[in-house]
Amino acid sequence: MTNVSSTPLRIQVPLSDHYSRASDEELKLRIQKSIDNLRDDLVILGHHYQRDEIIEFADLRGDSYKLAQFAANNTQASHVIFCGVHFMAESADVLTNEEQHVYLPDLNAGCSMADMATILQVNDAWQSFCEFIDEDLIVPITYMNSSAAIKAFVGEHGGAVCTSSNAQAIIEWGLAKGKYILFIPDQHLGRNTAYQMGFTSEDCYLYDPRGSIANDSQAISSKTFWLWKGHCSVHQRFSPQHVADFREEHPNGIVVVHPETRNEVVSIADVVGSTERIIDFVESCPPGSEIGIATEVHLVQRLAKENSDKTIISLDPLYCPCSTMFRIDLPHLSWCLDKIEDGEPVNEISVDFETRHWARTSLQRMLDITDLKTRD
Ligand code: SF4
Repeated sequence: MTNVSSTPLRIQVPLSDHYSRASDEELKLRIQKSIDNLRDDLVILGHHYQRDEIIEFADLRGDSYKLAQFAANNTQASHVIFCGVHFMAESADVLTNEEQHVYLPDLNAGCSMADMATILQVNDAWQSFCEFIDEDLIVPITYMNSSAAIKAFVGEHGGAVCTSSNAQAIIEWGLAKGKYILFIPDQHLGRNTAYQMGFTSEDCYLYDPRGSIANDSQAISSKTFWLWKGHCSVHQRFSPQHVADFREEHPNGIVVVHPETRNEVVSIADVVGSTERIIDFVESCPPGSEIGIATEVHLVQRLAKENSDKTIISLDPLYCPCSTMFRIDLPHLSWCLDKIEDGEPVNEISVDFETRHWARTSLQRMLDITDLKTRD
């Protein structure tokens, strides 16, 4: 049985003045020195939403899927510093081997969406559904943005993890083996993918973990998708008005949105895709293109800098960073590296044996299904 303890409290210790008062230039020199000292024994992974000064030191930058694949294939470095958020570091720990250690430079770097589903809530939901539906007909699918405990629950109950790049492939796989999809925790990715596959709002039930489904058993039995009521606070901000404003100012502009945005936005966009797809699309556009993007602002600003022959702007004129990703900064990276060099590593993210086993099962299923579909 999966470990059902709730998410342990993560407390980040304050950094000393040696880090918090150092200039960026000084910190960059220290970080580079540590990297040179640790050489092949170290890998730094950087999510696309990280600050530029962190991405500068990343051996690999990617979205959660690309970084998970890299972690699965990398067996050399014994120290993996994950510049991203907590659930990503957990996935990296699950996919790396026993000799490798994964660190998150700031323990406060969580994900508000992942925190909208706890393992206790998922267990409760499952028990409630199974009171009126045969368990074998339900396939749980969890977005990468969830805790290792939830990934383990899904693995143990015959389901798989998905990312925004492969959600449709994983759901198709789920519907070939069951009748109902319990999709955790992002309602928008679940709904957008269902609609993309030809389903409608009639096929979707929005499950609120804080409510009761006691009187809803009939409605639930008639729906294919049971969508967990969670969302990304960054992507949910984008609205149809943002799209209209951009189009008024840029009549030839292209609107590109991430599938974590609401369907009202997705349905009027020109291109919908995962972080990696957004990057590929922007890079493939001819010089002079005008592109309005609905995703995390650090990525949009970096794309604008790296594609200066195109006009690239965020659809939201207000600054919309992922505030938890933003916690990873030069002082924390420098501190984390120093501690590894001193032989007293800090902030290691370690998933317990049983959770690791089942979380690995659901992650590996995702990698296998995606690999098969790519070869089709
Ligand atoms: S952008 Fe949204 S989903 Fe991604 S880490 Fe931040 S809060 Fe979580």
